[in-house]
Amino acid sequence: MRKGKTFVISGPSGVGKGTVLKMLLEKRKNVYVSVSATTRPARLGEEDGVHYHFLDKGTFQDWIAQDAFLEHAEYVGNFYGTPKKFVDSAMDEGRDVILEIEVQGALQIAEKRPETILIFVAPPSWEELERRLTLRGTDSPEKIQERLQRAKVEFQSADAYHYVVINDTVENAAQELDAILTAEHCRVMERMAIIGT
Ligand code: 5GP
Repeated sequence: MRKGKTFVISGPSGVGKGTVLKMLLEKRKNVYVSVSATTRPARLGEEDGVHYHFLDKGTFQDWIAQDAFLEHAEYVGNFYGTPKKFVDSAMDEGRDVILEIEVQGALQIAEKRPETILIFVAPPSWEELERRLTLRGTDSPEKIQERLQRAKVEFQSADAYHYVVINDTVENAAQELDAILTAEHCRVMERMAIIGT
C-alpha cells in the first residue's frame, strides 16, 4: 500500500486556514488533519481532543520529555505541538496528513523530514487580514496587532516553503490546495514506485 504524505500548512491566524481546510476535506476523504496540543485556553465552541488537546504547561512539558512531539513551538505566549504517534499511524494507513502549524514548527519538520511539503496560506493583503481578525472578535486590539506583526515576520519565511496559496476566496484557495496534493502524488518517483520501472 502506498504511504501517505505529510503536508504542512502555515499562515497567519485569521487568514482562514481552517475554513479552507474544511472545504478541502469535503473534496478529499483520505486525509487526516493532525490535532495539536496547546497550552492556550479553548475558544468558545472549541472541544478538547477535536480542535486541540488542551494541556496545562506541566503536562505539555511532560509530553516534550517523553519525546511525544514531532515539533513544538511557542506562539504569542502559548505552546503548541504536534503529537507524533497519530501522524505516523495515519501515514502508515496510506492517508495524507495535514499539519496546520506555524513557521518555527514547520521549519523543524522540514529539517527532520525533508520529504514534507510546505504550503503557506497568505492573505490577499495585510489590510484584509486585519479586517478578518477584527471581524472574528476573539482577540483584543493589542493581541490583533501582535498577531499582525507576527504574520509579517512569518511571511518573510515563506521562501522556505514549496507553495503559497492566496486565500482571496475560500473556493479558490481550497481548489489550489487540492491541486497541490494531487500534483505531489504525480511526482515521478512516486509513479515509478506504483507502476514499476
Ligand atoms: P491559534 O491560537 O490561532 O489556534 O493558533 C495560533 C498558531 O499556532 C497558528 O499559526 C497555528 O497554525 C499554530 N499551531 C497550531 N498547532 C500547532 C502545532 O502543533 N505546532 C506549531 N508549531 N504551531 C501550531
